[in-house]
Amino acid sequence: MLGLMMHWPLMISSLIRHADQCHGEAEIVSRTVEGPIHRYTYRDAHARARRLANALIRLGVTPGERVATLAWNGYRHFELYYGVSGIGAVIHTVNPRLFHDQLTHIINHAGDRLVFFDLTFLSLVEKLAPSCPAVTTWIAMTERAHMPDSSLQLLCYEELLAAERDDYAWPEFDEETAAGLCYTSGTTGHPKGVLFSHRSTLLHAMAVCLPDAKGYSAQSVILPIVPMFHVNAWGVPYSAPLVGAKIVFPGAGLDGKSLYELFESERVESSAGVPTVWLGLIQYMKQNKLQFSTLKRTTIGGSACPPAMMRTLRDDFGITVAHGWGMTEMSPVGTIGSPKAKHRDLSAEELMALSLTQGRPLYGVEMKIVDGEGRDLPRDGVATGNVMVKGPWVMRDYFKNDQSSPLSADGWFPTGDVGSIDPDGYLQITDRSKDVIKSGGEWISSIELENVAIGHPAVLEAAVISVFHPKWNERPLLLVVKKPNMNLSRDEMLKFYEGKIAKWSTPDDVVFVDELPHTATGKLSKKVLRESYRNYCLPTG
Ligand code: ADP
Repeated sequence: MLGLMMHWPLMISSLIRHADQCHGEAEIVSRTVEGPIHRYTYRDAHARARRLANALIRLGVTPGERVATLAWNGYRHFELYYGVSGIGAVIHTVNPRLFHDQLTHIINHAGDRLVFFDLTFLSLVEKLAPSCPAVTTWIAMTERAHMPDSSLQLLCYEELLAAERDDYAWPEFDEETAAGLCYTSGTTGHPKGVLFSHRSTLLHAMAVCLPDAKGYSAQSVILPIVPMFHVNAWGVPYSAPLVGAKIVFPGAGLDGKSLYELFESERVESSAGVPTVWLGLIQYMKQNKLQFSTLKRTTIGGSACPPAMMRTLRDDFGITVAHGWGMTEMSPVGTIGSPKAKHRDLSAEELMALSLTQGRPLYGVEMKIVDGEGRDLPRDGVATGNVMVKGPWVMRDYFKNDQSSPLSADGWFPTGDVGSIDPDGYLQITDRSKDVIKSGGEWISSIELENVAIGHPAVLEAAVISVFHPKWNERPLLLVVKKPNMNLSRDEMLKFYEGKIAKWSTPDDVVFVDELPHTATGKLSKKVLRESYRNYCLPTG
């Protein structure tokens, strides 16, 4: 017997309609590419998203068609999120930091016909255009006064909207319909497309708002540093309207100074970003002896948050860090760190240790670890294995995948990450399976070695990679960027490991470098490092 509840498909358009009706006056503030700060409300955003819907239909966009964006976090990008998905088309958020060949590959693979871009990316789209023959329409996300001269025939976003009415009624359709497309950033391979649905996006948006996750509410003022081209800014553009939170979009200003000014002027109290951007912000604030007056918490994820960073944010700036883990294939959030009632009496140091895990799964994400043969391993916080996940916002296949399904025979998604799960569900990621250092029969966690190195007061950034060793097959090599004007020798660095880790896992050598390579999503690019140091001769070899 079926229940007698209404059939109300989970539509992305319902989020903006709700925000308009119940939080119509809540603000969306954007630092624009053109310069000034722009501010309007959810009610304004909803009206403009409906105009955009009419404009897209006039441009011939059909249900299921992919519409690309090359844009920062800003209000026009937000309107595209709703306008495109709302008419049943698919918003394809392209990461402009990818290499030229990756960009043309994914635009062609997705079959994009329309590309909306921020003015920052004009020269990029001019370079891309000859290799993207299927793209017929390039739309500059600006008004007539700022329209640039270009070798391309460009349309003007504001003119498109000005020509339309805002009386569009969002259609209802199957909640499993595709809504968004995002390619993995290729940290470990070629970019692959993940196709989110309306249903998966809504369920994910609801789960991340919960108090033990990001704790968003109508009182929140959220500044997503993580870009809308990096897995939908971890869901903020959907979660914020769901609860009626104020959003502050930083645009292209991701340096410490610009971010700090916006945090303060807009009284931001919650944020989200990868460790690298926090590194820049912390450095700027320390140099200028600044403090946050309203910021209380942030989610940090995308790569492991180093303990030294979490301590600095807590002890020097009073910020609670919720450590999150996930990936494009998981929409992206899988776990977030927060304590339970039973942890109430833990000491500050014990709580810190708990915060440094990657947290517990949100309801909706099932998780287990397995050994090399796919056998389940115990959830005892000790055994480490390949992390497998299941759930309504976990991908079941890549877009237009011409290889076999990535799922295991029993339907789990292998994340490519290695870790342990404790009896309370807390996940500790020890590495990506490709980054683990396989020394003899033992596995060494590159993340653990990096975390120790970053704890040294003279170290700004560190990366550990495996290098060939004739006896052990692989051994760890540590690459270090020193803080400006700081002295540190190889021996001092290695001595710093004593008593902090098992002796045999200490790096075999240290190389001091001026900078480390990062991927398009701001993570250490171990793939590039491994290639650069492939023939490195270890002193122990
Ligand atoms: P890409 O795989 O191209 O880097 P994603 O942004 O989807 O793109 O990255 C997901 C990966 O990032 C995860 O598989 C994991 O290895 C890593 N990651 C994400 N969050 C964390 C975290 N908190 N700690 C450690 N690793 C993390």
